[in-house]
Amino acid sequence: MDDGFLFIISGPSGAGKGTLAKRLAEGLDDVVLSISCTTRQPRPGEIDGEHYFFLSDDAFVKRIEAGDFLECAEVHKKHKYGTPEPFVKENIQAGKVVVLEIDVQGFREVMDTGVEMVSVFITPSDTEELKRRILSRAPMDDEELERRMLIANEEFSYLPLFNYFIVNDDLDEAVANIISVVRAERAKVSRKNREIKKIIQLRGKESNA
Ligand code: 5GP
Repeated sequence: MDDGFLFIISGPSGAGKGTLAKRLAEGLDDVVLSISCTTRQPRPGEIDGEHYFFLSDDAFVKRIEAGDFLECAEVHKKHKYGTPEPFVKENIQAGKVVVLEIDVQGFREVMDTGVEMVSVFITPSDTEELKRRILSRAPMDDEELERRMLIANEEFSYLPLFNYFIVNDDLDEAVANIISVVRAERAKVSRKNREIKKIIQLRGKESNA
C-alpha cells in the first residue's frame, strides 16, 4: 500500500472542482472525498452527510470552538464552510489520498498549518464560460455575478502557490490530467515508504535463506 496524502482541488466557483473530484475518486482506488460542513441551505437533490453536513450557524461555531476543522472559511462573504479534521487524519494514516474540494482561502489556511499536501488549481480558460457555469448552478442578478467574477479574479492571483494547474474546458481531458497527477505523486519515492520497507524485508529474507 502507498502512503496517504492530502490532495487539494481549488479554484473559482464554477470551475468544475466538484465534478473533477468525484471523477477522480471513481477513477482511482484509495482516493476518498472529504465531506465538508456548511451553513448554507441544501440545494434540491443534495443529501445531508453525502454532499455536505448541513449545520446551523450555532452548530458550526461550536465545531470551530471544539477545534474540529482543519480549515474553515466564509465563502463569497455568505456562508461558512469547513473541513472536518478527523476524517482527513484517519484516512491519510490508512494510506488513502484524501481529496478536499475547497476555495482558495481554505487552501491558504491549510498551507499556513504547514501540513504536507499536493494542490491543484482548476479553471476554465474562458471567463464567459465561467460566468455560464456560475449561473447554471444558482440564479443571481448581474451585481452578484460581477461580484463573483471579481472574487474569481482575486482567486487567480493565488495560482503561483499551487503545485499543479489544470484547465477544465474539456471534462474528460481534465479528468485524465488530474488522474495523471495523482498517479505521479503516488509514484514518488518519498511516498513509497510502506512498499519499500516490504521489499527490503523480502530481500533480507531471500538473502538469509
Ligand atoms: P457550493 O456552495 O457551491 O457547494 O460551494 C461554494 C464554494 O465553497 C466552492 O468554491 C467550494 O469549493 C467551497 N467549499 C466547499 N467546501 C469547502 C470547505 O470545506 N472549505 C472551504 N474553504 N471551501 C469549501
